[in-house]
Amino acid sequence: VLADGGALIMMSHMGKPKGKVKPELSLSQIVKNVSDALGVPVMFAKDAANAEAEVAALNPGEALLLENLRFHAEEEGKPVGVEKGTPEYDAAKKEMKTRQADFAKKLASYADVYVNDAFGTAHRKHASTAVIADYFDADHKMLGFLMEKEVTAINNVLKNAQHPFTAIIGGSKVSSKLGVIKNLLDKVDNLIIGGGMGFTFIKAQGGKIGMSLHEDDLMPEALNVIKAAKEKGVNLSLSTATICAQQFSNDADRKEFPIDQIPDGWEGMDAAPESLEAWKKIILGSKTILWNGPVGVFEFDNFAHGTGEIAKYVAEATQNNGAFSLVGGGDSVAAVNKFGLADKVSYVSTGGGAMLEAIEGKVLPGVAAIEK
Ligand code: AMP
Repeated sequence: VLADGGALIMMSHMGKPKGKVKPELSLSQIVKNVSDALGVPVMFAKDAANAEAEVAALNPGEALLLENLRFHAEEEGKPVGVEKGTPEYDAAKKEMKTRQADFAKKLASYADVYVNDAFGTAHRKHASTAVIADYFDADHKMLGFLMEKEVTAINNVLKNAQHPFTAIIGGSKVSSKLGVIKNLLDKVDNLIIGGGMGFTFIKAQGGKIGMSLHEDDLMPEALNVIKAAKEKGVNLSLSTATICAQQFSNDADRKEFPIDQIPDGWEGMDAAPESLEAWKKIILGSKTILWNGPVGVFEFDNFAHGTGEIAKYVAEATQNNGAFSLVGGGDSVAAVNKFGLADKVSYVSTGGGAMLEAIEGKVLPGVAAIEK
């Protein structure tokens, strides 16, 4: 915008002030850094809802940063001080929606063009991420460069995948990834499930998992996934062996067990070589790879080997076989960074929750608001 001679107004948020002014979450603290990054002076408007004077004073080539939008309850649009489920809640919600629309309209009035580059909040329908787009016509609203990359990467795996397509889903809980798994079953050729969440699948099939992480209430869902994978011809690859410990600690003694024969008192902490060998073959034979979630407790260096290997295989498939690889959603991003492989995969997503919702097949309000 600046290079093309425009005047730039930036709006964003920090933390969760829940509609209150909290000095420790003021964006005034980042003015210098933003100015250094842009190479122009950056002015600051203390009240995002009343910034007309600062906006009027802005010249082409200059930049203005608005105060943390979340200092206004209207940004998130959730009623404040009213309990969900109480009789007052619905009326308060309705009133807040009107206030949110007014706030979005005010923000929109400052500028001629709206650019949304906040992928990390694209799954939220907030004033500045979605509602504001109602006040611009199609030619005056657009995705920013980061958003465009994220959306293209998601489309590369969900809409235009080259086959074989492999998804690697790890992490701690089936409950948080069930929507992702179900949506992927209609798209992938191979589904690798590892990490803590794999034990629910093993226990559901009658395996002994010792004190490994699992969710009993999700065992029926795990069986449904196994059945659906068979019906749809998806190669579901669960772990076959695991490195276990007797304490949840980096320094705990380690022992390998078959995945369904873990003795009482032991818990699965990392993928064993046998599982990794099988997964390596699948990953290196893939043309599209989506990776979400570590296959072990990678925060402990002594149990990070399996996750590091997966990162290597994904990087190798990308570099040597021309696979498209998308790493997204929280901890797998931390993992590729930990192993220094972020620049060896095709794309590392910047949005945890937004990426997960996109992979679940949900429409992201932040993207939809621009595209409609
Ligand atoms: P998520 O946020 O669901 O992707 O889960 C990431 C977390 O899963 C990381 O903090 C890992 O330490 C944890 N995790 C992965 N494998 C295991 C395991 N076998 N036992 C316990 N936690 C695990």
